[in-house]
Amino acid sequence: MVSDNNEECPVCKMSEDLKTSRTKGKKVYTCQRCGIFSISDVAILQEQWKEKSTELSGWLRERHERGIEIQTLTPSNLPHILAELPQHTPLEKQLKLLESIELKTHYPGHKVYINYEFDISLAWVKNKEEFVFYLKALLERGLIGDNESTSNTSSQNSLNMLDYALGIKPFITAKGWEYLEAKASNNTDKVQVFVAMSFDNELNSVYENVIKKAINSTGYRACRADSEPDLGRIDEKIIVEIKKSRFVVADLTQQNSGVYFEAGFAMALGLPVILCVNKDDLKNVHFDVRQFNCILWEKNEEDDFKNQLETSILYNIGRRN
Ligand SMILES: [Zn+2]
Repeated sequence: MVSDNNEECPVCKMSEDLKTSRTKGKKVYTCQRCGIFSISDVAILQEQWKEKSTELSGWLRERHERGIEIQTLTPSNLPHILAELPQHTPLEKQLKLLESIELKTHYPGHKVYINYEFDISLAWVKNKEEFVFYLKALLERGLIGDNESTSNTSSQNSLNMLDYALGIKPFITAKGWEYLEAKASNNTDKVQVFVAMSFDNELNSVYENVIKKAINSTGYRACRADSEPDLGRIDEKIIVEIKKSRFVVADLTQQNSGVYFEAGFAMALGLPVILCVNKDDLKNVHFDVRQFNCILWEKNEEDDFKNQLETSILYNIGRRN
């Protein structure tokens, strides 16, 4: 790793404290704003994200903070990543910021350091001005406090924040914790759908061509763990993603124990779970699925599977507008 004063992050254009290292055909950046990520040399030259650098920076930072693996950005995966980047509303940006503070909080009352330059990506915002706006909004709503002796929302309290040149040390108030808990249990406005299934080339095409498309066409967004988890180990990030989801689609084909765990965990949370399995594999399914909604699908019958899945989503959960 080297620090190069003249170099800037290709995504957020910040050069302060930037570290880079080079391996064959790609460059690894450690950016205080975007986190750690790598980009292929060709992708750096093309700069496809120009119009969406704020969103890409927010996306990279969020994955970095949550410990979610990020593939090397290349000209072939970037168009897909950029197309899927959400445009957050002002209210969503406030929630992003509050959730980031929650993620940094080790215990209730813990004051975490938030830097005006480095941490604007936590709220997916363009500049310090917009970032301070959301920090103040959270203070005014009483969801965070920035003063040791008080957690109220007096105007003096919210103005103190601007006295700091570099940042503040907010903490989540009792009201903030209440808000986060209510948000987590209010399931109906969630857009994400967690997909639990084995990792396998053949099943990957089922995911891309059927499951993901059926979920998208009913107004939701599919989320699948990016990499194969270690055998027998369920990542914390999977737990987090399931909790963030409106419902779960679990494909039991190949009898992966992780998939059973994820389906069971979601059921215990009270989330709807749509089960599916390849017809040839039904005899191997570990429990009697007749009591659950279970879609049977056949190889080379992708349209039929997609129709069944869409119908099940619309019938059991409903379209998301
Ligand atoms: Zn950056």
